[in-house]
Amino acid sequence: MGMNAMAELGIGTYYDAAAETMPREQLAALQLERLQATLRNAWDHVPLHRQRLTGVGMAPQDLRSLDDVRHLPFTVKTDLRDHYPFGLFARPLNELARLHASSGTTGKPTVVGYTRADLATWSALMARTLYAAGARTGDVIHNAYGYGLFTGGLGMHYGAELLGGVVVPVSGGATERQVALIMDFGARVLCATPSYALAIAEVAQAMGVDLRQSTLRVGLFGAEPWSEAMRREIETRIGLKAIDNYGLSELMGPGVACECSEQAGMHGWEDHFLFELLDPDTSQPVPEGQAGELVVTTLTKQALPMLRYRTRDISKITTAPCACGRTHLRILRVTGRNDDMLIIRGVNIYPSQIEAILIGQPDIAPHYQLVVERHGKLDHVSVEVEAQPGVDPTSFDAIAQRVAHHIKSLAGISTDVLVKQPGELPRSQGKAVRVRDLRPQGD
Ligand SMILES: [Zn+2]
Repeated sequence: MGMNAMAELGIGTYYDAAAETMPREQLAALQLERLQATLRNAWDHVPLHRQRLTGVGMAPQDLRSLDDVRHLPFTVKTDLRDHYPFGLFARPLNELARLHASSGTTGKPTVVGYTRADLATWSALMARTLYAAGARTGDVIHNAYGYGLFTGGLGMHYGAELLGGVVVPVSGGATERQVALIMDFGARVLCATPSYALAIAEVAQAMGVDLRQSTLRVGLFGAEPWSEAMRREIETRIGLKAIDNYGLSELMGPGVACECSEQAGMHGWEDHFLFELLDPDTSQPVPEGQAGELVVTTLTKQALPMLRYRTRDISKITTAPCACGRTHLRILRVTGRNDDMLIIRGVNIYPSQIEAILIGQPDIAPHYQLVVERHGKLDHVSVEVEAQPGVDPTSFDAIAQRVAHHIKSLAGISTDVLVKQPGELPRSQGKAVRVRDLRPQGD
């Protein structure tokens, strides 16, 4: 293949070739150097980290190899809440340039902070992420991630600007206007949660707009777990390449990991993060290729260094070479968050498993909600789905029975399926609410 043909396919081209194709031994040496600096930063400036390190008999000079990371204490989400708002910051407030916060559904929100250098790193990693997904200088980038305290909107925004994109900062909501702007401005890249991307597709269809005929070619979707089936549905309905990306505000925001155009796992940017995969129960490393909890240490964050952050996201990791030429490990599709896993009459179920089954079914639309209740001593799951427009309501019962049968045979749980009229289920403009757990708390 000639260089021109390779460039057209995006093979052999990178936003930051030196970093993205760094040989793995060199990458490991860089990680060790940066891990030592991170540990020093945490030790010197964050009392909680120093106290915990002292508790396990570790001082910064004791970390001599990357494997020594296993001796460091974990950090969990409640640490941020317990030290609200700024207790884990390694820099005084007047040295910061921005704060973000998660919506606190229970108790206090978690607050994260950035120095100017942290923001520059974040933008560079987002530009790298967008480029790996297929975005290029001059592209109109329609950013439907929420702007505000949520890291999705602004994280994507500044990366897209740094890349040289033409950013449309539309945020979530007013979906008909979103469709019009995509068409009128000639957007090539769409950034949104996967559920909101589908909502846009649906509204476009109702408006008589065929997004497959639009200029959209690349979609960056993340911030909620989604299935391969959902990916195919989005690609078919919008006519673009749907790319998965990953991040957490506690670690930075979006831009921690992203798929390349191979769509074969998300490259975790190892020059800025150290990834471990651990058995969630024993906290011991799992062998490559097996599922475990993703645990991440930041390597360059100044304001909020994170030591072994327990993401509660379950995934697999591979260091096998990728056809794109990037050397950074790949995180295989996250099956779901540990927190989202439902235990129904002793069977472990992720909402994404149910999603994958529903999307394969004819006559129903890709919108759903699981309602979990307790009847007497038994858990009971209702799956609320929507009929496709035009499906005869007299066939709803038969569809429900067929879907329940598929869920039983593929996921192993009995459910009541309720088929609703098109448009009856709530639409997300950000992260979709897939589960309503109405079981009594505390048992
Ligand atoms: Zn790749």
